[in-house]
Amino acid sequence: MTYKSGPHFLQIPGPSHVPGRILHAIGQPTIDHRGPEFQKLANEVLAKVKPIFKTECPVVIFPSSGTGAWEAALVNTMNPGDRVLMFETGQFSTLWSELATRVGLKPEVIPGDWRHGVDAAAIEERLKADKAHEIKGVCVVHNETSTGVTSNIRAVRKAIDAAKHPALLLVDTISGLGSADYRHDEWGADVTISGSQKGLMLPPGLSFNAVGPKALKASEKATINRSYWDWQHQIGMNKDGWFPYTPATNLLYGLKEACDMMMEEGLENVFARHDRWAEATRRAVKTWGLEVLCQNADEYSPVLTAVLMPDGHDADKYREVVLDKFDMSLGSGLGKVKGKVFRIGHLGYFNDLMLMGTLSGVEMGLAVAGVPHKKGGAQAAMEYLTGNA
Ligand SMILES: *Cc1c(COP(=O)(O)O)cnc(C)c1O
Repeated sequence: MTYKSGPHFLQIPGPSHVPGRILHAIGQPTIDHRGPEFQKLANEVLAKVKPIFKTECPVVIFPSSGTGAWEAALVNTMNPGDRVLMFETGQFSTLWSELATRVGLKPEVIPGDWRHGVDAAAIEERLKADKAHEIKGVCVVHNETSTGVTSNIRAVRKAIDAAKHPALLLVDTISGLGSADYRHDEWGADVTISGSQKGLMLPPGLSFNAVGPKALKASEKATINRSYWDWQHQIGMNKDGWFPYTPATNLLYGLKEACDMMMEEGLENVFARHDRWAEATRRAVKTWGLEVLCQNADEYSPVLTAVLMPDGHDADKYREVVLDKFDMSLGSGLGKVKGKVFRIGHLGYFNDLMLMGTLSGVEMGLAVAGVPHKKGGAQAAMEYLTGNA
């Protein structure tokens, strides 16, 4: 290992950079989670997290990665053997459907090409055909982190309503929340799933379920075995500022700080800067003569951009060169697109100069790795950023 000077460029689409303010908050001495100081923290943080989801509903906070919150959303609302309708947007929707099978559900997956978001018309058609209402949940990923494609959640809600179908709408916005516009109440999600280490600027270790009234009602009768993930126990104790088991106290300090930072900036401003970086990144990709994986301009992710490698070039070999020469981590291609794409994360605690460093590193890496491309991508991004300062 050669000595690396200066900060590492962590440009994967989560975990993302953690600001000093949040690191400082997390670095406070751990307190008694059954004491009055903790109760005050819990009451504050449970209230402050709601506007981030744009909800008035309870938000359950688990000490787990996002995968735990996927499981929690299903085991709290479903019965063994229930059918859930899912849409294959990419690797994360695929992993969620595998998890659904493992907890005893029957997922039905509408196939996708990994270059487009959820087809709401296909959801509507399938639900209309389900006259017996055997499908109990519709599970979709808002920001598919493996492809850089977002889905229109409002359209999925409309599809469920147009089919007059009672299925619950479960939405994974693990990598969307805090970076891309998301509205739990207005868009009619029944459960919203998220995690700490992406747009929320925290280290890995917290996950979330925002729980709408229909989902909460379903949880009173749902019979899949559960204990650690049980909402009733959490929500019951959260009402007074307590948790049923030891919460991730120090990460909750960090979460409170993260919520404050996002509210000080204004969520609209947070979303606008992500959109701007995504546009600058796409201009760079276009100038290099490479292709963005997402094919529909309405579905471009503000969080990350997945870039297709030219034929005959392996994305992971290229990523190795970038890591070795420039100390930058780019996201790998996952599942079906392994070796075919690399992913540029432009989310969270980030700014124009970090983006310029990132895109310069991508372009220098293309040259060093001998990947055919045209020069000037970073320049094109710089022109866009200066023209839209
Ligand atoms: C990161 C991510 C997950 C998985 O979260 P973990 O924290 O790794 O368990 C699930 N869905 C999406 C869309 C993600 O980006």
